[in-house]
Amino acid sequence: MVSWVRGKCIGKGSFGTVNVAVKKGSGAVFAVKSVDKNACVSAQIESLENEIRILQSLETSPYVVDYLGDDESYESPTKLYRNLHLEHLPGGTVADLATTTTAYVDDDRVLRSHVYCIVSALRHIHSNGIVHCDVKGKNILVSQNSSLCKLVDFGSAKKVLTCRASVSPRGSPLWMAPEVVRGECQGPESDVWSLGCTVLEIVTGKPAWDCSGADTLSRIGFSDELPQFPTRLSELGRDFLEKCLRRDPSRRWSCDRLLQHPFLASVSPPTSSSVNTPTESSPRCVLDWVDSEFEEEEEEEEDIDVESFEESAKDRIGKLAGSSGANWDSDGWMAVREYYSNSTRIEGEKTAGISSAYSDSRRVGRMKERSVWSLLRSVVLPPLGS
Ligand code: ATP
Repeated sequence: MVSWVRGKCIGKGSFGTVNVAVKKGSGAVFAVKSVDKNACVSAQIESLENEIRILQSLETSPYVVDYLGDDESYESPTKLYRNLHLEHLPGGTVADLATTTTAYVDDDRVLRSHVYCIVSALRHIHSNGIVHCDVKGKNILVSQNSSLCKLVDFGSAKKVLTCRASVSPRGSPLWMAPEVVRGECQGPESDVWSLGCTVLEIVTGKPAWDCSGADTLSRIGFSDELPQFPTRLSELGRDFLEKCLRRDPSRRWSCDRLLQHPFLASVSPPTSSSVNTPTESSPRCVLDWVDSEFEEEEEEEEDIDVESFEESAKDRIGKLAGSSGANWDSDGWMAVREYYSNSTRIEGEKTAGISSAYSDSRRVGRMKERSVWSLLRSVVLPPLGS
């Protein structure tokens, strides 16, 4: 039974492709994040399953993307997609807003309103025992009501009760807290550091740290340096940043406390009343959907040379951290041919190796970035505790 229709691709990350989609019958628009189980590496499906579990376990919040369901769909004889259905947030990422518009420069209220939303989202997930682990401008999406933004991408998130020793760092290097780079722990305080880096990113339109690979990691993890605070930020804004970007995690302010900071205290909470109302319609007519095709970008297969990958780790960290925005492609629409509900965890994990047919080099680079993290730390950075 076909119950929804996949529309154009609206984003691509390291761990999935996101399309706009429409529910048959109601015509409700949503976003669907998908991984092809027959052509992915295990890290991708693990990340999507993790995101599904985390979002299922969270109570709804006006500042966190809504989980709408999950399923699997056969969309050609060889393509079996695992899908996560999400609230559609059409306003782009705050990273894009910062680089392509002057919205944050023109009006301090937009900046404070968005920061309020991010801190509120983090307070919500932290109070539910969850650490996001990948807070950055690309993972904050603006809603239809442009003063409202929401936290997305829970693929790296985890449940944490206490900050435990010796973690495998998760997230994006230039937003990582010092204790995460050192592999010591990754708790709610680490999200607060990443929040500080995200505020800097929003204000300046670029990541908090200049990107020079392992040198930068060394500066983040093992120096006394802090990122530069922009002079054009108000004194209150700079004070707010100082509370987030404290090297000692125990001295950083909690999100509860940050919401009381004078930088945010006067913000009126943005409402979601105008978001995803039933009147939001699909961009094209029903007949178009059935005729056209959805294809993921065809890319050449490539075997990945692990050695050269390791040699260029510094470069890739740079590229990874510098990459922004989504790839917008695939204008087509296609009916999902088979649909069945599957909210249970996939048991048989795909174990395809790094040289599998999966060929989006940017995404593979990103995943391998994560997988060689300990190698990088041991080769390039000083030993732990030195
Ligand atoms: P990353 O490489 O950052 O880990 P990912 O593979 O986990 O990415 P997401 O960050 O969740 O994927 O999504 C990729 C892009 O898809 C986002 O940057 C955004 O442009 C788009 N996107 C994701 N979720 C939504 C949504 N709910 N509504 C609209 N667009 C979305």
